[in-house]
Amino acid sequence: MDLKRFFIQTFGCQMNVYDSERIAQVLTARNYRPVDDPARADLILVNTCSVREKPEEKAYSALGRFRALKRKKPGLLIGVAGCVAQQEGEGLLARLPFLDFVLGTKELRKIPEILDNLERTAGRACAIALDGRIDPYRELPLFPAPSGPSAFVSIMQGCDNFCSFCLVPFVRGREVSRRSRDIREEIGALSEKGVKEVTLLGQNVNSYGLRTPGELDFVGLLESIEKIPGMKRIRFTTSHPKDLSPGLIGAFGRLSKLCEHIHLPLQSGSNRILGLMNRGYTKEEYLERVERLRTACPEISITTDLIVGFPGEEEKEFQETLEMVERIQFEEMFSFRYSDRPRTRALTFGPKIPEDSKQRRLAELQALQRGITQRRYKAWEGREAEILVEGPSKAGGGEKTGRTRGNHIVNFPGASVAAGSLVRVRIQMALAHSLRGELLTD
Ligand code: SAM
Ligand code: SF4
Repeated sequence: MDLKRFFIQTFGCQMNVYDSERIAQVLTARNYRPVDDPARADLILVNTCSVREKPEEKAYSALGRFRALKRKKPGLLIGVAGCVAQQEGEGLLARLPFLDFVLGTKELRKIPEILDNLERTAGRACAIALDGRIDPYRELPLFPAPSGPSAFVSIMQGCDNFCSFCLVPFVRGREVSRRSRDIREEIGALSEKGVKEVTLLGQNVNSYGLRTPGELDFVGLLESIEKIPGMKRIRFTTSHPKDLSPGLIGAFGRLSKLCEHIHLPLQSGSNRILGLMNRGYTKEEYLERVERLRTACPEISITTDLIVGFPGEEEKEFQETLEMVERIQFEEMFSFRYSDRPRTRALTFGPKIPEDSKQRRLAELQALQRGITQRRYKAWEGREAEILVEGPSKAGGGEKTGRTRGNHIVNFPGASVAAGSLVRVRIQMALAHSLRGELLTD
């Protein structure tokens, strides 16, 4: 069989990054090889995100660029995967005549069949079934080709929470946990290939296994991964505040490989808005969980997601968000302007907040967090930290980059230090979103 080349462009969250890696494994098993330049590819796949308006627009403009390549190379196959594919389905084929296939979020295993048909010129394809609690990763080949010492592993798909602003349940389907033994097998294989850190992915990892009789729960899963030889660090994302269990809080500090970082999306500091968002907790409950986390593990770094300009958000409710941010002192924050998403309940909520007000609130929130991040990073100056070295830093000049257990990026001079090493550094200087350190030798 002729060797063919593929190029995957990925938008969106870590889940999409992971899916792209699994798709790459399927393609590799079919005699395809990855290329960095889309102009050299025989197959281009755009793995899309539709959680907000912006990434969706980016996916369409990438597709526009690839269409120009196809004009020069008519045999080029172009496919769309991910959340936009799931959301738009056949409609995408109708709108974009140059597209060859649309692959839904739970249909990864159909790629060989789709390619077989396309190679036999059997016509364009659309696979977007989303039914049932099916694990989309089962039956996929497992040839981990890690790109560094740190890797993602999905432990569950979908979400049953139906937050009113979010389309994930509509494009990723009902929540389904992967079998713990499949997860361990995958992490074991990654470890054998030199991976030292794994980030477990799910929309709400706290409910891992709860719907599968006889399966481990999330803490049980963490305990079993802790025993995998060679794996040095475990992280996870995302944890829903309403389901954050005492067992999980207690695991920080007890499990030596579990890193001291939790991403705990708050979304809003107003109880009325949290209610409209269908988040299932109040700001007081959120604060209480933060306090318990910090009591159990004083070192823990807490990061969050916030949305400004949710329909009907009043100025005083936005001020409550600022107060929560001031009070909690997050390490880092991801903040977004609310955008209407198809099929979600919030689409019907009003009044919509004008874009300029959303922009002003976002800027105010980000300015507040910038100061907090700066102070928290500054507190690291003079302290020692363990770093997992990821590779050369973007700055070049023999500098290396890595992360602390709390997920802070640290750059340091260390020409002779190999990626994958765990080293100790002394932090010398805090920058806006990273630290500078010097290597300590024993
Ligand atoms: N499962 C996670 C949780 O429970 O928070 C979040 C997953 S979502 C893919 C990532 C983030 O996108 C959310 O935390 C939220 O802040 C943001 N987001 C989701 N829908 C949004 C919307 N319609 N407008 C703006 N931001 C949105
Ligand atoms: Fe979306 Fe809410 Fe599910 Fe997170 S928990 S994926 S925000 S519905």
